[in-house]
Amino acid sequence: MTSAYPHLLAPLDLGFTTLKNRVLMGSMHTGLEDRKKNFPRLAAYFAERARGGVGLIVTGGFAPNVAGWVSPFAGRLATHGAARDHRVITDAVHAEGGKIALQILHAGRYGYHPLSVAPSRIKSPITPFTPRALSSWGVERQIAAFARCAALAREAGYDGVEVMGSEGYFINQFLVEHTNRRDDKWGGPFENRMRLPVEIVARVREAVGKDFIIVYRLSMLDLIPDGQTWDEIVMLAKAIEKAGATIINTGIGWHEARVPTIATSVPRAAFGWVTKKLKGEVSIPLCTTNRINAPDVGEQLIAGGSADMISMARPLLADAEFVNKAAAGKPQSINTCIACNQACLDHSFSLKIASCLVNPRACHETELNYTPATQKKRIAVIGAGPAGLAAATVAAERGHSVDLFDAAAEIGGQFNMAKRIPGKEEFHETLRYFRDRIPTVGVNLQLNRRVTAEELLAAKYDDIVLATGVLPRDPKIPGQDAAIASGKVMNYVELLNGGRIAGKRVAVVGAGGIGFDVAEFLVDDGHSATLDLGLWMAEWGVTDPAKARGGVAGVRPQIAPPAREVLLLQRKSSKPGAGLGKTTGWIHRSTLKMKRVEMFAGVNYESIDERGLLISYGEKRENATLLEVDHIVLCTGQEPERSLEQPLIAGGARVHRIGGADVAAELDAKRAINQGSRLAASL
Ligand code: FAD
Ligand code: NAP
Ligand code: SF4
Repeated sequence: MTSAYPHLLAPLDLGFTTLKNRVLMGSMHTGLEDRKKNFPRLAAYFAERARGGVGLIVTGGFAPNVAGWVSPFAGRLATHGAARDHRVITDAVHAEGGKIALQILHAGRYGYHPLSVAPSRIKSPITPFTPRALSSWGVERQIAAFARCAALAREAGYDGVEVMGSEGYFINQFLVEHTNRRDDKWGGPFENRMRLPVEIVARVREAVGKDFIIVYRLSMLDLIPDGQTWDEIVMLAKAIEKAGATIINTGIGWHEARVPTIATSVPRAAFGWVTKKLKGEVSIPLCTTNRINAPDVGEQLIAGGSADMISMARPLLADAEFVNKAAAGKPQSINTCIACNQACLDHSFSLKIASCLVNPRACHETELNYTPATQKKRIAVIGAGPAGLAAATVAAERGHSVDLFDAAAEIGGQFNMAKRIPGKEEFHETLRYFRDRIPTVGVNLQLNRRVTAEELLAAKYDDIVLATGVLPRDPKIPGQDAAIASGKVMNYVELLNGGRIAGKRVAVVGAGGIGFDVAEFLVDDGHSATLDLGLWMAEWGVTDPAKARGGVAGVRPQIAPPAREVLLLQRKSSKPGAGLGKTTGWIHRSTLKMKRVEMFAGVNYESIDERGLLISYGEKRENATLLEVDHIVLCTGQEPERSLEQPLIAGGARVHRIGGADVAAELDAKRAINQGSRLAASL
């Protein structure tokens, strides 16, 4: 094999069928599973990934019955009619030469509805509904539902099923005493608690016959205090193999765990060692997972003996062509998932259709297409931040002639600040992707060019796209200007881009996304736990499940003290960080708490002088307090930069605004890239 990734791209012989490589597209709920009217969209989404070379696709979860719903009216496969509806999906994948398995997901007590069931009547900390405890007969009915669902999946044309046995869902709930207090044959000693998954796999195998893939997703690291021991995990894995599973996939962490498992600040391949521990204990292929987003990472995991396959979910939202690009020896052209969760998981948790921050076409393949332009135009894009980069490359890909200008010496706009935040190293990848994409699609990039309206008008472009981003907002705090002149006050741009160094005690004014990032930058002082797995595990109290149940360290090892004393302030009286990402905000809040950042809410900024920042509280401006600090960093939001707009319009140009230049409020890269891509698709 001549490929740079000989292990990753080697076929996997499963006896009755062969996967073309070792890449499994992990299950992801996109929101398209829940209504059959969306199945053609789901089919187009999966077909693109099959065409992109994935070895085995696993769908988002489908419940085997109503009791197993994740939320009311969630996707369910329980009838022959429903199986017929799935044909559009399986046919589309097979037409592209792919293979696809349906995930059977029973939510148990994680079900967000009043019909949920569980081994015992114990409410989960993440749902408002208390589940009904199943009778012994009720347990049998759930097993029968799994078997029926698998048989229907086969009828629907799927190549296999994945039995979801991790992340704290129904099956997991039987495995630990934390959620299973039964005293019948399904509870008590571990041999009884593991009876349910083993019985499910055996009955599924019986229902589908020998030549059908059964992936079992096994929780190898529960990350809850009284989770499984390693001996129990090994015992379960052996029994699952014996019951007829084809592949064991890795599950990491229950949803209620207080350890991040897939966020961007989690080190790459952070849990490969867990799957590796199981190697040699079973003889069926093992698949490892979590924070694998580049072909070399996957290659090293397999070559190094951690697993036989790797699972990637979000990286295939980000780039459907991931595997083909790796096989062609072009890893630099992969649009890498930066693990931000902003358009995928955050959408799912808000009941919105998932997509991808770096690839707005994900799950929108039927409506957002970059088709060749009917009329070739000359287009100028001003600003090479995320919005301008997306607009310029999509427009050029469609055949337009595109000039892209940026006043800075490098592309990326604010992403050049984001990438400097410890834990946001992945943001470098988006810039690497665009650096590769610009010459590939033929964008004419001109850096160090702050263009004027006169120059642009003189060049007579057909369309001018203003992607000039934002400028930091001036909060106009009394005394601020003198303190700026003396160097006591700086804004986040001066700190992150300008090389300014802050002192030992710093006040950060503004606790939005940027205020939080700046606080992390200041406490870590350039040392990122994301690049140091041992440190990261120590910080989050993760340990070997052979040492402590669930892999949760009882006493956390000593972690490095923060580099600075940081005070983070906001005027609102709400909890600081309340507006951060739905699935990641808690991680930022926990990190800053761990680093002893002091948070202040409901403050008024009275004045700044050489001693520090004077604040008061509430409408009555009470309890005036002087915060003595070495420096004050302003992170007080942003205003659009559109000084070019009026002169261009006055000169008769056709002008379009995108990203921060359009609206600065609640701007993020998801909107910037989406808006840029959609505009360019329409020009
Ligand atoms: P910008 O990125 O601001 O780019 C504008 C570009 O225009 C700049 O490169 C500028 O040099 C150029 N320009 C301006 N005027 C001219 C001119 N006259 N001629 C030529 N060039 C010009 N977003 C997220 O979604 N997730 C995050 O986790 C995240 N983290 C962040 C962390 C930090 C520390 C910061 C600062 C931002 C973060 N953001 C994040 C915000 C995100 O970076 C912005 O939303 C995004 O960059 C906006 O893109 P844009 O293209 O509209 O503008
Ligand atoms: P932001 O989230 O709007 O926060 C601005 C902060 O400044 C708020 O704390 C606000 O709170 C305060 N503020 C606003 N006007 C002020 C004034 N006149 N005087 C004093 N304080 C003022 O904006 P941001 O932090 O600049 O971030 C910009 C965008 O980047 C965000 O919309 C965000 O989506 C994106 N971003 C995202 C992430 C992420 O992890 N997803 C990270 C970084 C940035 P009070 O009004 O209560 O004081
Ligand atoms: Fe990855 Fe972010 Fe895209 Fe989700 S939205 S797939 S985490 S890049």
